[in-house]
Amino acid sequence: MNMRFDFDNSYARLPDDFFVRIAPTPVRAPRLIRLNEPLALELKLDPEALRSPEGVEILAGVRVPDGSEPLAAAYAGHQFGSFVPQLGDGRAVLLGEVLDRNGNRRDIQLKGAGRTPFSRGGDGRAALGPVLREYIVSEAMAAFGVPTTRALAAVSTGERVLRDEVLPGAVLTRVAASHIRVGTFQYFAARRDEAAVKRLADHVISRHYPELAGVAEPYRALLGAVAERQAKLVAAWMALGFIHGVMNTDNMAVSGETIDYGPCAFMDAHHPETVFSSIDRGGRYAYDNQPGIALWNLARLAECLLPLLAPDGDEAVEIAQAVLGGFAEMHRNAHRAAFRAKLGLTTREEAEDEELIRDLLDRMAASEADFTLTFRGLADSAGDPERLGSVRALFSDPAAFDPWAERWLRRIDREGVGVEERRKAMKRADPARIPRNHRVEEVIVAATERDDFGPFEELLAALADPFSDRPEFARFEEPPKPEERITQTFCGT
Ligand code: AMP
Ligand code: MG
Repeated sequence: MNMRFDFDNSYARLPDDFFVRIAPTPVRAPRLIRLNEPLALELKLDPEALRSPEGVEILAGVRVPDGSEPLAAAYAGHQFGSFVPQLGDGRAVLLGEVLDRNGNRRDIQLKGAGRTPFSRGGDGRAALGPVLREYIVSEAMAAFGVPTTRALAAVSTGERVLRDEVLPGAVLTRVAASHIRVGTFQYFAARRDEAAVKRLADHVISRHYPELAGVAEPYRALLGAVAERQAKLVAAWMALGFIHGVMNTDNMAVSGETIDYGPCAFMDAHHPETVFSSIDRGGRYAYDNQPGIALWNLARLAECLLPLLAPDGDEAVEIAQAVLGGFAEMHRNAHRAAFRAKLGLTTREEAEDEELIRDLLDRMAASEADFTLTFRGLADSAGDPERLGSVRALFSDPAAFDPWAERWLRRIDREGVGVEERRKAMKRADPARIPRNHRVEEVIVAATERDDFGPFEELLAALADPFSDRPEFARFEEPPKPEERITQTFCGT
């Protein structure tokens, strides 16, 4: 058996004040819930070894593998607009970094691994429900092709955690390009430690943006590149009806991956103001606010980088403003590209396209049309008017769909693409299945209350290939019945 991790821990080689060295706290009775075999292989890990008692002990934090240099990272962050100078890994321990099969550096982190010096009042643990939610949604994101942290494994701990109620505990093994956040920069900037900010920026460039290493103004380029990835990421979320729910600066990874699946959710009926998170009372992180919040977070990153942008303060601010001044356009382009694909527009852009997209979304919102079913229905029709009836029926005011449909049919006529080709392309942009909240909830209830992981496995199977037509998974395509509707989600940390 080969329980070897090929660790190469670049973060642990950074200065001492970037983290605290600490091992996970062992748990009583680790039991493997699920191992992500394809991801294990991608990481050059032996799935059989990971399933062995020794492997499960590693995934539960009972045993630290050879070559690991466990640590809890320091970071700060703006939470709902208020700055907290010290947050840090309060319930997560980074085991180390490995180079995957493609030569990419990946963090392997245990989430729910016990208390650290950053835990403040918390117990350092994770409840089973949020672990399963993160496993399901992050793996679905990966299947959609959206940059995201991944889930390598979930284990139950045999221990109870106290939240509003007593719940079973679990540990998630999270894999990420890195766990460096906007808040990591803020931690050092708030301490006026310019040398550390520079050290971190250089680390981020070499790790995530190596093409910028030799350019004339690397830190300006870094800000622009992070902004570009965020602009695209948020557009990709919106094209799936995804609401992150807690876009605090400590939950924005500078790698451009989606991170921190707390109160996140996918919309059923489309509405731009949709919010699920129980703690987001003002709707700060509502569906349509996400691009504006991404920009707000990037402005916080820019503030940290100011000393690196120019020796003169005013000049540095001008540079930052010029870079971030481009964000709205970056996002608009990415958003248009994503929705053009969803509408089967694959050839030359037309000035009208943006308005065509906007018009559909407005009509869907007014008629509470299901986001995923509407687009998948358009894909199924591929522009065959005979097959649009089922989409029309998704609108509470079906007549409101007709003028838009006529406009779309005229527009796709000008594409000069065959129906079959269009259908195939659209079905790759319009998933049949998303992790609907009521299904995620079902999984959590079955696991938490009945120790039944069947629904978890079934939902994962349904989402593994979300773009394919799979009649046997039809029930995962359906929106909730009124009594099944979930209106609120919780961090549950
Ligand atoms: P989050 O809301 O998950 O983004 O976490 C915000 C901050 O709270 C981070 O510093 C976490 O490490 C910390 N935190 C969340 N849950 C716990 C917990 N159960 N124990 C200790 N720290 C926690
Ligand atoms: Mg977080």
